[in-house]
Amino acid sequence: MAGYRRQLYRDDAVVLRVQKLGESDRIITLLTRRHGRLRAVARGIRRTTSKFGARLEPFGHVDLQLAGDPKGNQGSSLHTVSQVEGIDLYGKRFLGDYPRYTAASAIAETAERLTPVEREPSLRLFQLTLGALRALADGGHATTLVLDAYLLRGMALAGWAPALTACAVCGTPGRHRAFSVPAGGAVCPDCRPPGAAHPAPATIDLMSALATGDWRVADAAESGVRRECSGLVAAHLQWHLERALRSLPLVDRGAPAAGAVPPSGGGAAGPVPPPVAGAVADGASREMTE
Ligand SMILES: [Zn+2]
Repeated sequence: MAGYRRQLYRDDAVVLRVQKLGESDRIITLLTRRHGRLRAVARGIRRTTSKFGARLEPFGHVDLQLAGDPKGNQGSSLHTVSQVEGIDLYGKRFLGDYPRYTAASAIAETAERLTPVEREPSLRLFQLTLGALRALADGGHATTLVLDAYLLRGMALAGWAPALTACAVCGTPGRHRAFSVPAGGAVCPDCRPPGAAHPAPATIDLMSALATGDWRVADAAESGVRRECSGLVAAHLQWHLERALRSLPLVDRGAPAAGAVPPSGGGAAGPVPPPVAGAVADGASREMTE
């Protein structure tokens, strides 16, 4: 035992990821409401008698009691889960639904990447992530629209929102026709760099609708427009991340839209790693279902 007193504290959290640790334990990556992203050990949850296991599956909204220093200043950076109650276990509703499962995986992976520093509270990202998983579970909007809305708003919180209503370079307001990931979004004719894409105007409108939560416009978008939007959102996100998201290429978006992704933005995507054995297998651990 370390030479300090472990404190007990409560928070609610979204389970982002679950990894095996030894024979019977797991490391749970959590995005908490008040303490930011943190990792905690759940002891013994792979035993069939564990009450925790089914509650600590990926994508669930849970209420936890944790043991450790909430500020992370003392002792191990890994805290211990001492109690957990399920508030809404969204992951259960995605089992057997591959499109929603992969979208939820992309949301969780993005949340982790947007919180590079542990224990740095980000209430807005927590609320955004919880809201996106709830929307996926409710099924009121198309899966890819929920994911793209999440990615656009997550990028806005990170300060990388693509310009949509003004030129990314000179700031001239208006709905510009060209889109350049390296330039930062929509660009006017004067600022348009070589290699800029020319998406359908409806695609820029859809991106704006998703960024602002105008679901009336978003739900009405045609499938080709949705695919072009997804391509631009993915390219813009990958451009700003150091490493490509491994779950994003697995999301079922239908046939790719020709020319949706500007050639200049494709470089960051790199080769697609083999299917996410880790993420999917971790999430699909059903052996502990009650
Ligand atoms: Zn311009």
